[in-house]
Amino acid sequence: MRDRPSATKINQPDPHVRRVLERAELEGIELIRFLYADHGGVIRGKAASRSRLAERLNTGIGHTVAMMAMNMLDQLQEVEHLGPVGEVRIVPDPSTFVPLPHAPGAAAMLSDLRNPDGSPWEACARTFLKDAVETLADAGYTLLAAFEPEFTLGRRLPDPAGGYDRLVPLDDALCYAGTGFDTAHDYTIKLIRALETQGLRVEHYHPELGPGQQELSVRHAPALRAADNHVLYRETVRGVAMRMSMWASLAPKPLADQAGNGAHLHLSLWNDTQNMFADDSELRECFIGGLIAHLPALTALTCGSVNSFRRLAPRTWASAYAVHGLDNREAAIRICSPLGESGEPNLELKPSDSSANPYLSLGAVIHAGLDGIRRKLDPGEAVDVDPDTRPGRYRRLPASLDEALDALEADELLMEALGPLRRSAYLAVKRSEAAAFAAQDAPYELFHHMRVF
Ligand code: GLU
Ligand code: MG
Repeated sequence: MRDRPSATKINQPDPHVRRVLERAELEGIELIRFLYADHGGVIRGKAASRSRLAERLNTGIGHTVAMMAMNMLDQLQEVEHLGPVGEVRIVPDPSTFVPLPHAPGAAAMLSDLRNPDGSPWEACARTFLKDAVETLADAGYTLLAAFEPEFTLGRRLPDPAGGYDRLVPLDDALCYAGTGFDTAHDYTIKLIRALETQGLRVEHYHPELGPGQQELSVRHAPALRAADNHVLYRETVRGVAMRMSMWASLAPKPLADQAGNGAHLHLSLWNDTQNMFADDSELRECFIGGLIAHLPALTALTCGSVNSFRRLAPRTWASAYAVHGLDNREAAIRICSPLGESGEPNLELKPSDSSANPYLSLGAVIHAGLDGIRRKLDPGEAVDVDPDTRPGRYRRLPASLDEALDALEADELLMEALGPLRRSAYLAVKRSEAAAFAAQDAPYELFHHMRVF
């Protein structure tokens, strides 16, 4: 582990700061949301008014340390150093400033959690990814990544019987079907415009398999930007829906008997200007070897919720086995064949969804892949069939959040990378979610995940 630079001064001038202030004024922004992702995978934040923005860009906004011990049900967990005493600052990264098209008058910035003296805080998830990116750079590589999210579009309606609100899907259009393009048309056009305005470059869209299910992918970017993009994406998917009196859920399995919502993670590793995942490269094999070796533990971070593990079932194309294969959509790691001559070879990690904290998820993926490179780990055979057709031959992914957390606790590399405060908080928060949902029925779990994610 590299030595952390001593306290970075918060009040250093930043070339982006003046631009932020000018834009906020020009675009009539009243509130600027300082956003971060917590250990429950929830996107939270506080907002500064425009009149206080110049100052808050320097100082950040004060915040209780305890929020990194909060689970996705807003139940505060007991974690040492994350109690009622103690303070951090939500310090925005001015280079991420974006007006929010779905919330006129508001803008957002992705933020770090810092100590009051400006130094990075040990439990900040965005810092975890930044550190991982730096470790990777020290080894001579850059990671480009993109989340490929699916989500369910519909309406949130009260249950006439007085139970939990229900997510009623927008349509029953078939997968990739023309009808689906039309039923969701007004929403998708608004969504695309809103994403593009924020600098996310939309790649593809299609109506997906399940009722109301949509898939819209955005262009890859360097790892930190990719995680920032995914936070903005999640906010925008839901925000645009709310403006239209609809409800969109990126929960892994909002409807128990329908297709799940993945957020497959596309990855390519670069050395200067060269994609190192070109055909059969040894480096690619080692990187896959690292992912496979750490997969059971990784899923605790890439598939972060109780609901995630409903999705990871065989024969749903969500992946259930720790194997890899060329264009194999039942493998946890799909080696994607490049699109045409200019297409870039990349890997697709399927056990990944939008209930994860994208910073922890991508950071952990970097550590696992790098471990594969350093130790020259063998990924095993490339599998060219559905692994479920060969019972007992391949290792299953964890079947529950608790099982994944057991694997994480046993994974020295990832535990070390997370560090003492972050790992104890993450484990406490996630164990509490596993226990809370185990004590309730399935409708409770489905409701809370579609409400939060
Ligand atoms: N919906 C599937 C999942 O949960 C993915 C389907 C696909 O796009 O291949 O991951
Ligand atoms: Mg899909």
